[in-house]
Amino acid sequence: MDAKVPCLAVINDSRDDLMASSSGGVFSILSRHVLAEGGVVYGHAFTEGLHVKCVRVDSIEGLDCLRGSKYVQSDMGDAMRRIRDDLRVGTPVLFSGTPCQVDGLLSFLDGGHDNLITVDIVCHGVPSWEFFKDCIDAEFAGRDLVELRFRDKREGWGCGGGGTVLHNHKMKDVPFAPEVSYYYKRFLAGDVYRESCYRCPYAGGERPGDLTMGDFWGIDSADAGLDSRRGISLVLANSHKGRELLPVIKKSSTWAERDALEAIAGNDQLRHPTPRPKERDVILKRWRERGIESLEDQYKRETGHSVVRWRVLRSLKRVFRPLLRRED
Ligand SMILES: Cc1cc2nc3c(=O)[nH]c(=O)nc-3n(C[C@H](O)[C@H](O)[C@H](O)COP(=O)(O)OP(=O)(O)OC[C@H]3O[C@@H](n4cnc5c(N)ncnc54)[C@H](O)[C@@H]3O)c2cc1C
Repeated sequence: MDAKVPCLAVINDSRDDLMASSSGGVFSILSRHVLAEGGVVYGHAFTEGLHVKCVRVDSIEGLDCLRGSKYVQSDMGDAMRRIRDDLRVGTPVLFSGTPCQVDGLLSFLDGGHDNLITVDIVCHGVPSWEFFKDCIDAEFAGRDLVELRFRDKREGWGCGGGGTVLHNHKMKDVPFAPEVSYYYKRFLAGDVYRESCYRCPYAGGERPGDLTMGDFWGIDSADAGLDSRRGISLVLANSHKGRELLPVIKKSSTWAERDALEAIAGNDQLRHPTPRPKERDVILKRWRERGIESLEDQYKRETGHSVVRWRVLRSLKRVFRPLLRRED
């Protein structure tokens, strides 16, 4: 990556948007901008049957389902054709997705378009939806799951802080964290991704999107004058169009200009793809041959995982976190 690529650390000024977002909420700023121009936003949401799909949103109210990272492969469905149709009638479009999805879209359209803004996410890889669904069905058997939240900002900024789950169409605090979920643990370990993710050509400096967004891991937040407790977005402006959007982002956020090298140092996926662990073949072979239950049973035996213990530890963390912070 060119170390001179403009790089921002960003925290959305809207607390509601920030709390609903995985990182610093830059996606919401861009989406609101495009919607205000009469445009539409394409992003990724849970749909019927816990499928994750690329969906089209044309209102602020619709944005909520796009917020939050869904750590599984999203199905593009007919989104590319719909984007082409929107562009043909002059509708401004914001498309966000993994870099491979952005590149796929640009190939489909035969290049960029004046009315199209593309944003690629820094991505460590995705498991297949089939593996995800099998795990989740086993972990949440008997519950009417509508959506999963992989991150919960009440736990602070980061992965694996415990998520909330919607079931029976009500928000419920149901344990969903690496300590209690086989899927979440495997996902964070990086050993069940799609084969192509381990050879990802985008996990580096050549980014296909006008902008790249991710978590600004490793930022010296004190030096940047930013509060990192609720998440900080990393933004890289890769194209002229991307650079033109930086003032839009700055207007709705607390931000700091940073050196791109700092972002690269803190985020492996800006240097290389996730290494392919040798456990991958064993896990996926066993899943195909003996079903997910055999893996989950083994996981429970090995970790002695207990939902009660996890709940107690999390409650203690919530009680003590403000006290620890006061001493900082
Ligand atoms: C599978 C995956 C892996 C990631 N890996 C990393 C990483 O290694 N390092 C890092 O710094 N950041 C990573 N991210 C990005 C990060 O989690 C945030 O999505 C990003 O910083 C945007 O945050 P936000 O607060 O602006 O947006 P939010 O409002 O939380 O928006 C989430 C954005 O992610 C998109 N999205 C959600 N799920 C998917 C999906 N399954 N496929 C494609 N797009 C999706 C939505 O369309 C939306 O644009 C990953 C995200 C995903 C989905």
